[in-house]
This record gives sequence, C-alpha cells and structure tokens, in this order.
Amino acid sequence: MRTELSTVGEFGLIELLSKDIKLKHPGTLKGIGDDAAVIDTGNKMLLLSTDLLLEGIHFDLTYMPLRHLGYKAAVVNISDIVAMNGTPKQMTVSIAVSNRFSLEAIEELYQGIRLACNKYNIDLVGGDTSSNVTGLFISITITGEADKDEIVYRSGAKEGDLLCVTGDLGGAYAGLLILEREKQAFKANPNMQPELTGYEYVIGRQLKPEPRIDILNLFRELKILPTSMIDISDGLASEALHICHQSNTGCNIYEEKIPIDDQTRKLALEFNIAPSIFSLSGGEDYELLFTVRQTDYDKIRNVPDFTIIGHITASGDGQNLITPEGQKIRLTAQGWDAFNERH
Ligand code: ADP
Ligand code: MG
Repeated sequence: MRTELSTVGEFGLIELLSKDIKLKHPGTLKGIGDDAAVIDTGNKMLLLSTDLLLEGIHFDLTYMPLRHLGYKAAVVNISDIVAMNGTPKQMTVSIAVSNRFSLEAIEELYQGIRLACNKYNIDLVGGDTSSNVTGLFISITITGEADKDEIVYRSGAKEGDLLCVTGDLGGAYAGLLILEREKQAFKANPNMQPELTGYEYVIGRQLKPEPRIDILNLFRELKILPTSMIDISDGLASEALHICHQSNTGCNIYEEKIPIDDQTRKLALEFNIAPSIFSLSGGEDYELLFTVRQTDYDKIRNVPDFTIIGHITASGDGQNLITPEGQKIRLTAQGWDAFNERH
C-alpha cells in the first residue's frame, strides 16, 4: 500500500512520526511539539531547536541575496528560542552545496550567518559540510537558555486569556509576491528594471526578518509572563491553532483587529485578496503570538508593539475568525501544508 504524503500534510506526518516516541530521560521536560525542546540540565534549562532550508522550497536565489539568506536562516532558529522566552546561545550550521556555487558565494552566506550571530550574541560552534547534486541545503540547530519558571510553552493558554500579536502581519508574504512578480516580469523581458519602489517595507520583511528578542525584555519590564507563546513562521491561523490544540482551548480572532501595514494592505488589494488572508496564511513574519491573563490588560493595552486580536475560549467553542460583519468562520491552516502546492 502507498499513502500519499499530501493526505496527512506536514503536521499530520509529524504527529504520526512522533506518536510512539517515549521519552527516556527525566531531564527531557518537553520533546516534540513546541518551538524548542526543553532539557533540564540542573540549573538553567537548555532549549534546543532545529530548522531546515532548501533551495527551491524555502528560498529562491534569483531574488534572495546569499548574505540575506544566511541572516534569515539564523533568524528563523533564533525566533524559535525567543518563542520559548529563552536566550539564544550557540548554533551549529550544516550545509550541502553543489558545484554551481563558488567559494565567494558560500562566504557571502556565512557573512550573513555571522552577522546574525554577532548581533544576537550567539556562538557558532560547529556543523557539517557536504557536496550536493543540485542546489543549496542549510540546516541550523540552535540552543538557548531559560529559567524553568520563565519558559513559555504553546500549551499554557486558558479560557478568557487575551490573544495578542507583536508588530504587523502579512508583510513577508506581500514581499514574496512582489519579488515573484518582478521575477516573472524579468523572465519575460530581461531588459526590464524591477519595480520595487513603494514596497521597500514588505520586501524587507521577506528578505531581512528580525527575531523579536526585544519583546522578551519588554515582558520583563512590564512584569508579565505570557501564558502561552509561539512565533509566527507559518501564518497567524496555523499558529493560533497550534496554541489552541496544545492548550486544549478554542479562540476568537477579530479580523479587523489584525495589525496589517499599509503596504501589505495595498498589495493584497492589487492582487484582489483580502489583506487578512496574507496575515492568516502568509507566514514568515517571525512576530510573536502570545496569550496573557485578562488581569494583565492594563499592562499591555498601551504598548505600541502589541495588538490584542482576540481571546481564548473553551475548546468546545472551536477556533474562529470573526469578520467585521460578525460572521464566525472556522480557522483553517492553509499555510501549513508543505506537501501541497504551498509551503
Ligand atoms: P517550527 O515551525 O516552530 O519550526 P515545526 O512546525 O517545524 O516547528 O515543528 C513542530 C514540532 O515537531 C517541533 O517540536 C519539532 O521539533 C517537531 N518535528 C518536526 N519535524 C520532525 C521530525 N521529522 N521528527 C521529529 N520531530 C519533528
Ligand atoms: Mg516556531
């Protein structure tokens, strides 16, 4: 019998692969299922996470400069440690490259990785290097550190908690669409100059994301500890569903509350797509989605970086998007499915 991977999807596959895994060590506090694993090392907790980036799937070198790619590959990993409320510490970088790449090209990639490591105070401590038949493959593993009682899991949301996001959402996807559009135009007419003016912000969101480490300091200053948190790599809908599934809750997200930048909005309308779709399904914004107790409302309501987009409900109420007209739509995670046409 042969079952197509597309019938289970990326998350169905992870669930299947992980279902019979029994943790053997009492020090493994959290295994599969969060942004990072949590390992009790006695004093501080060790956070551990890994990510894989493949040419043609996760990035396209026609519009992604290698230096940016290196930086972004590091950011994607740092963001997973941040999503646990941890401090990133060390990383290993493994690459496989075909002979299409020159030494200078790989040096560019590492310049980007080093830049991120310097900026975020991370030691690059190892990795592995291999040749590859085609294309470029990058796998980064990162460690982080946190006090046990500071770690924020996906699973801690409670009914009545406020659902919040940092920054604005959908920009990275808008940037991708612009770059894709200009690539197609260039293919049709190589003399054409790309038209990127007016879209600098969203292109930056796609090519130069930053992890929101600054938000962790803000939490400390405000004296709040989120009840749950996840970074937005796959789109708001998918991440909200992760929090709800892990916390065994429902949620209501109010569509008109989702923070969307003007450039994102403008581009969505040009493409004839509702701007909220970019935020819900686009992904790669690397902002944080988190929940706080209602009693923390006064502490967060005037923070410019935070937007309250909804609240946590009982699991029986389901996970819903509430439209401005008051219509309730079941949240689905279109951004999820790496084995369908989108990833
Ligand atoms: P993120 O988007 O935060 O990087 P993922 O959605 O990739 O997280 O992964 C969700 C969880 O599943 C994580 O705990 C991750 O470590 C685990 N996971 C992903 N792929 C595999 C795999 N092939 N085998 C075991 N665990 C996996
Ligand atoms: Mg994550």
